[in-house]
Amino acid sequence: EQEAQHFINCIGSTPGFPKEGIIFRDFMPVLADAQALQTLMRGLEEALPVPADEFDVIAGLESRGFLIGVPLALRLGKGFVAIRKAGKLPPPTLSASYELEYGTATIEIEQQAITPGSRVLVVDDLIATGGTAQAAQQLIEASGASVAGFSFVMELTGIDIPDTIKQSHYSSLVTMP
Ligand code: 5GP
Repeated sequence: EQEAQHFINCIGSTPGFPKEGIIFRDFMPVLADAQALQTLMRGLEEALPVPADEFDVIAGLESRGFLIGVPLALRLGKGFVAIRKAGKLPPPTLSASYELEYGTATIEIEQQAITPGSRVLVVDDLIATGGTAQAAQQLIEASGASVAGFSFVMELTGIDIPDTIKQSHYSSLVTMP
């Protein structure tokens, strides 16, 4: 309980970044704190949206998803695959684009990174609109694999996440405005 509170206290909040009206939630201070980092990793393991034997590999979203995806994979005895912003991975890649408030974003995965038929747990630090997570699901499905669930550290309130994610197995450790 005290441990959970300490973990939450470590999450930074910066109003007005990256633009007015947004409160930027920053979990980097959690990583910097030895005790909060333990709480984070234990929390992610305990809050898995599906049992560990129901997925084969973890996919992390650039870049904060990498920071939790690899240690979580190590704890669970799984492999890790990176989903990156466009232009960073060597070809051949699969890509998926999604709408941002202004313009679009594209993420990619190496074409051979995920074994067809495998079940994938998607991890990221934060879900807001769910656009990134949904695009990640498209990449995984285009690889011939399936999403077993989504695991987030933080979930923002007051934003409707897509039905495809709501209806799949997903979990978050902290809900905040
Ligand atoms: P979404 O696609 O769900 O709208 O946004 C989630 C993506 O944007 C995640 O990859 C997440 O890292 C990033 N993001 C959006 N808002 C925040 C924020 O307040 N803090 C952090 N750390 N990342 C954010």
